[in-house]
Amino acid sequence: MEVRSCKMCKKLFNCMGRETLCPACRKKEEEKFQEVKKYIEENKGASVDEVAKDCEVPSKIIYRWVREERLILSAGSGILIECEICGKPIVKGKYCPECAANMANELNAAISKPAKEPVKKSSSDNKQRMRFLDN
Ligand SMILES: [Zn+2]
Ligand SMILES: [Zn+2]
Repeated sequence: MEVRSCKMCKKLFNCMGRETLCPACRKKEEEKFQEVKKYIEENKGASVDEVAKDCEVPSKIIYRWVREERLILSAGSGILIECEICGKPIVKGKYCPECAANMANELNAAISKPAKEPVKKSSSDNKQRMRFLDN
């Protein structure tokens, strides 16, 4: 357990894990989250500014919830976030499906590359060993 200062109210609190807010602010944020979620369900076309104003939540936090995929926007929602790579509007997460797929491919390529090295090395080792046997 460590003592941390709350990101919201700066009060010190005992932290058990990775939380950055004190229990009181966490509870407040959870209540706001439920309020925003309900508001968005009832006002599907509301823009982020309208939600922020009516629920008294900074738009920054609303975007964060969407990025964390806690808040899932419906099609036709007035709130749009952009893909962090190509800037295309998306409704949840950080990347559009295309960029997410590209990233997964690049990741696979990066993982399979180093795996090839030891194979090359061992085959040259084999050659050397064979040469040794020839002699
Ligand atoms: Zn706090
Ligand atoms: Zn994209």
